[in-house]
Order: sequence, then C-alpha cells, then structure tokens
Amino acid sequence: MENNNYQVLLYYQYVQIDDPESYADEHLKFCKDIGLKGRILVAQEGINGTVSGTKEQTKLYMDTMHQDPRFADMVFKIDEHDGHAFKKMHVRPRKELVTFRLENDINPLQTTGNHLSPKEFYEAMQDENTVVIDARNDYEYDLGHFRGAVRPDIETFRELPEWIRENKEQFKDKKVLTYCTGGIRCEKFSGWLLEEGFKDVNQLHGGIVTYGKDPEVQGDLWDGKCYVFDERISVPVNQKEHVVVGVDYFDGKPCERYVNCANPDCNKQILCSEENEHTYLRGCTHECRVSPRNLYIKEQELSQEEVEQRLARIGESLMQNA
Ligand SMILES: [Zn+2]
Repeated sequence: MENNNYQVLLYYQYVQIDDPESYADEHLKFCKDIGLKGRILVAQEGINGTVSGTKEQTKLYMDTMHQDPRFADMVFKIDEHDGHAFKKMHVRPRKELVTFRLENDINPLQTTGNHLSPKEFYEAMQDENTVVIDARNDYEYDLGHFRGAVRPDIETFRELPEWIRENKEQFKDKKVLTYCTGGIRCEKFSGWLLEEGFKDVNQLHGGIVTYGKDPEVQGDLWDGKCYVFDERISVPVNQKEHVVVGVDYFDGKPCERYVNCANPDCNKQILCSEENEHTYLRGCTHECRVSPRNLYIKEQELSQEEVEQRLARIGESLMQNA
C-alpha cells in the first residue's frame, strides 16, 4: 500500500551564522530529537539542507526554523514520499555551502543574478539571444536538463569558473540563464558571472524542483529527470511529456537507472540497465570489473569461474593484464 505520510524537504538560506561548529552540534541534536534523517551543511555564509520525516516531524522542523529570525523567510521545497529518503542524520560544519573554490568568494547577499520565476525563465529560454547554462555536475546533466542547455565540459561544479573563462566569447553578449537543483549553486555562480563582466545574468528562482511543480509551466522544456542527493536518486520534472535523455554507459540505449561502479576505489556513477550491470559486473572499466574489491562480485558471491565466464562474454579475461 502506498504510504505518502512522509515528506522530503530541500532548503537553503544565505545568512550570517557566527559559530557554524556549535550551531551544527545544537542543530544535529534538535533534528535527532524530532526524528528527522538527512544531510545539512552549516557555514558562516548560511545553511543548506535536505531532510526527510513524517508530515508532523517536517512541519515541526519548518515551524521551528521559521521562528529563528535568520531563517524566517526560508523557502522549503516539499516532496511527498513513502518513507525516509536517508539512512542517517548528519549536520556538518563547512567552510562554504557549495564547493565553488574561487579566489575571491562571492557573497550572494551582495552580488547575484536576477531571480526569474518559472514562468519568466520559461519565456526567457525561448528568446533566441539567450544561452542556458547548467550549473551542476556532468552526471546530473546526463540524466536530465533543459532542452538545449549548455553542458559545461566539467566533472564537478568547482571546475565551472575555469570552463566559463575558456569559453567566454560564446556567451558574453547573450542573455545568460543559469539553473541548478534547488537554486543554491546559482546564487553564487550567477554572482560570479556578474563579477566576470557578464551583463545580463539570470537564475531560476527555486531551481528545477520548483519549476517542475509550477502549475503554469509544469516542467515544460525539461527533458529527462532531475538528479537528487538522496535515496530517490531522481525525481520527475516535466508533467507534460517525458523524454528520456539518459543513455546506458555500456550500450548507449535510453536509460535512467544510476548505479555506482562496484569498485569502491572508483565509485563512479554510471547509467546502466540491470542486464548490463550483470554483464559488466557493475564495473565501469576492465580494471574496475576485475578489482579484488569489486562489490558486485562479493554481493553475488560469484566464483572465479563464474567471473571468468562473464568476462569471456565481453571479450575480456582475468589474466589479460597479468
Ligand atoms: Zn569504475
């Protein structure tokens, strides 16, 4: 039976927090007392969290947070769910809320791009002098993105500034739109674009998750799904049509199923069908497939002979690198 008595919250607030370490300690205790699970980061520049709990627990959390003047206006994006979306509760003090290592850090309370509502963003996207830049990691883009959005050729968000500098000429006279999951990364990224000399910089207010829920745009012009950082892995966005853009790492067929490479030293996220997971021992390379630490081989309790047989089917062998 479907049990939608749980909710997943996603939220952030850029605001001065004087002593992130002691705030994180207190906050962890508070969250555990309520019974929430999830992951929260606390820095001098603010808070960023995603937690799950029953409707009563999450309501108590939101109400209590809103009583703190620092978080009085904090917006919570709320998803219904059929249970917890996390196994544990963590609150961690950090130097910065998003890993965006800049020479001069950006304070989004002072410098940030225009905030566009989902409707405004939807309309601006269709202007021909617009460029839409995805401000997330490559594996997030690969599962889903706005139709026609630029995919920066980077592996992690922290490499984004360098990539923009190298490709600046293409974008500098355009109307720039940026987007990310919930909006927190764009607050900084769009501020940085302004400091870099871009003139017309805009960000999707509330991020993709808000865009997908907007009653008017209904996620239109989004292809694929939206990657999220909890056990759900992805959530739907476009309510009008679902276009699969993810492709299987091994055979290139349409695929929206993420797994982690079974070699714990690699752990790379790959889109992969169940069938190919078995065929390739959930390893992204030959080295990962034959790694003595391969978790798939352990989980499935495969004998060496069975491993050899699987490898033979894809033209590999245990001995090939010996
Ligand atoms: Zn691997």
